[in-house]
Amino acid sequence: MPRKCSRCGSANAEVSLPYAKLSLCRDCFLEYYIHRVKRTVEKYRMFRKGEAVGVAVSGGKDSAALLHSLRRAFLSQKIVALHVNLGIPEYSDRCQEEAERLAESVGVDIYILDLKREENVSLSDFKRTIYKKKICSVCGTIKRHSFEEIAGRAGVKVLATGHNMDDILSFMLSSLFTKQWAQLVRLKPVLPPLFSWMTRKVKPLIKISGRENLLYCLYAGVPFTEIECPYSKGAKTKERLKALEILSMNNPNIKYQALDAFLEISKILEEKIKLPKATPCVKCGFPSRDGICAYCKRMAYVKEILSNG
Ligand code: SF4
Ligand code: ZN
Repeated sequence: MPRKCSRCGSANAEVSLPYAKLSLCRDCFLEYYIHRVKRTVEKYRMFRKGEAVGVAVSGGKDSAALLHSLRRAFLSQKIVALHVNLGIPEYSDRCQEEAERLAESVGVDIYILDLKREENVSLSDFKRTIYKKKICSVCGTIKRHSFEEIAGRAGVKVLATGHNMDDILSFMLSSLFTKQWAQLVRLKPVLPPLFSWMTRKVKPLIKISGRENLLYCLYAGVPFTEIECPYSKGAKTKERLKALEILSMNNPNIKYQALDAFLEISKILEEKIKLPKATPCVKCGFPSRDGICAYCKRMAYVKEILSNG
């Protein structure tokens, strides 16, 4: 006899959530998921009623689940989708198509920043530079800058990202091992703006696993692309995620326990650690340590390489 849903008791259970001691049917899982996203937003006061929220959408499952569930959880909130096209061949255009399809299906406006069109540079150009082995790190710098830029164009002061529990734990491990305390503090659920014109960054999926996001998209019929970025192969993040999966085999709750522990420690760390002071970049006004931000430095550098052929 198939097991019945622990919530409604009538439909067959399809999803097992050991951390919550629940086995749910599709409909109850979707309801439970939306409720958890709503509770996380409210618990950490990620945004207030009446504030416009920009959701960074990549085309992948996590940000697709985020946009769709936020729309359902906060029916009267102004929400827009934000997308950055990085110009990665055979990947970025597919991502943009999916992001546009998603925004349309959810009924929100989408703002797109096309890196190639705006800077005449694509992420792939960095493959010809000293960054060829650190492409994800350059990508992170570009995305942070570009999402802030389009958030400004869209007139939103809250930027929601689809970082899930696995991402946070993976970054947490890497920041711990490399003693990058400031980076560790930045993983918290709500990151206030460094300058008043910037956005508050919020992570409504911080307590939800990648697997739950995938199931949400599949069960709710949310459009997303499963194609992987060609530069993701061998990424350290993937290796760390694998290690976490192995640990979870013996204890399915371990990731949830680790996240809880991290959230407690990050409060203590925040009091102890002083984030480095930022000064506005002379070129673009974004935060920098020495007057030119990481984005402007990398753009100037790659343009120089490109102009030399
Ligand atoms: Fe960017 Fe790396 Fe992700 Fe590709 S895998 S989108 S390069 S961060
Ligand atoms: Zn700059």
